Amino acid sequence: MLPYGRQSISDDEIAAVAEVLRGDWLTTGPAVRQFEADLATTAGGAECVTVTSGTAALHTAYAAAGIGPGDEVVTSPMTFVATASTAAMLGATVVFADVEADTGLLDPQAAKAACTERTRVVAAIDYAGHPADYDALRTVADSAGALLLDDAAHSIGATYHGKPIGSIADLTTFSFFPTKNMTTAEGGAVASVRPGLAERAARFRNIGLVREPHRFRIADQGRWHQEVHEFGLNYRLPDVLCALGIVQLRRLAGFLARRRELVARYRTLLSDVDGLLLPPQRPGVEPAWHLFPVRILGGRRRDVYERMRAAGIGVQVNYVPVYWHPVFTDLGYKRGLCPVAEEYYEQELSLPMFPDLTDDDQDRVVDVLRSLLG
Ligand SMILES: *Cc1c(COP(=O)(O)O)cnc(C)c1O
Repeated sequence: MLPYGRQSISDDEIAAVAEVLRGDWLTTGPAVRQFEADLATTAGGAECVTVTSGTAALHTAYAAAGIGPGDEVVTSPMTFVATASTAAMLGATVVFADVEADTGLLDPQAAKAACTERTRVVAAIDYAGHPADYDALRTVADSAGALLLDDAAHSIGATYHGKPIGSIADLTTFSFFPTKNMTTAEGGAVASVRPGLAERAARFRNIGLVREPHRFRIADQGRWHQEVHEFGLNYRLPDVLCALGIVQLRRLAGFLARRRELVARYRTLLSDVDGLLLPPQRPGVEPAWHLFPVRILGGRRRDVYERMRAAGIGVQVNYVPVYWHPVFTDLGYKRGLCPVAEEYYEQELSLPMFPDLTDDDQDRVVDVLRSLLG
C-alpha cells in the first residue's frame, strides 16, 4: 500500500543517532540544546522547548498559558483531537468555532463570535500546512484579552507574510511524528516569542522542578536542592531523538521543496477533473504542504476512499470534527455545531504527500482518481 505520508531517513540520521548512543548522554545532553537552538532559527527566533510529542507540546503550551477550570479555549474542530483534548484535560472548556469553507482553517469571524470574557486562548491550526489568517486572528485574540496559539503540527517551515511559523502566535506547537514534515520518531516542541512563556513550558516538561537558588522557597538546603512550585510532567525529548531531529531539520528545506513540487504536479494533473476541488492557497503565505486535502463532491468521498485503498493507494481522511468524538458528545457537544466543518469533513480526502513520493507513484494516484471520477 502506498502510504499517504511517511518519513525520509538517510544514513546521516542513522550515524547521528549511533554517535549519541556511543556517548555519555542518552537523555538531556548537548543534542537537546543544539536541536532547540536550531529550531529557534527555523521558528524566526522564537524560544523553543522540545517535548515528547505534538500532543505533549499542546498540553505544555496550554499549561504555560495557565489555563484551568473556568477558562475557555476557542478552536477549530477541523484538527486532530489533541488540539482540544489537552485543553479539556487541564479543566478548560473548549468552544468550537467554524472554519472557512474553502481552506478548512479557523474562520476569524466565527472565532470572534465564540469569544467571551472567559476566553484565555484562541487556538488556530495550520491545517494541511497552510497558515491560518493570523492578522485577523491576532485582532480577535487581542480584543478578547486572550493568547493566540498556533497548532503548527503541519506547518513547520511555512511562512506568513514572510515571517516563519513559530514567530507569529504567542505560543506555537510542533509535532515530529513520522508522517509530519520532519521527524524525531515521537517528538514535538513549543515555540514562543513572549517573554516568560517558554520558561514556564520548560519547567512544565521537567516535572515543574525549580533549580535557580534565587527562586527557592525552602531556604538553607545544600547544592543538591531543587523544588516544585507548580505541577508538571516528564515530557523531556531525549538526546538520541534530538540528534535525529538536528539532521532532519537540516533537510527540512529540501523536504518542503519536494512537497511544493508534488503540489504543483497535483494541481496540473487534476485541474480539469469534474466533481473535485483542490485546496486553495491564500496570497502572502508560503505553505508547508503536509497534506494535500482534495474534496470529493456529490457524496462520493466514501466510495472513492474505498476504491483507492483497494487499488493500493493509502488515502486518508483528515479529520472527523473533533466534537464528534464520544468524549465530547458525552459532555453535551452536538452534531451540527459547526456545519461548514462538517461538510468539509464529508468531502475531504488526503492524497499521498511525502518527500520520497516519486513522480511515477504520483501519476498512478492521479490515474486511479481520474478513472474513478471520470
Ligand atoms: C499530529 C498532530 C498533533 C499531535 O502530534 P503527535 O506528535 O502525534 O502527538 C496535534 N495536532 C495536529 C493538527 C496534528 O496533526
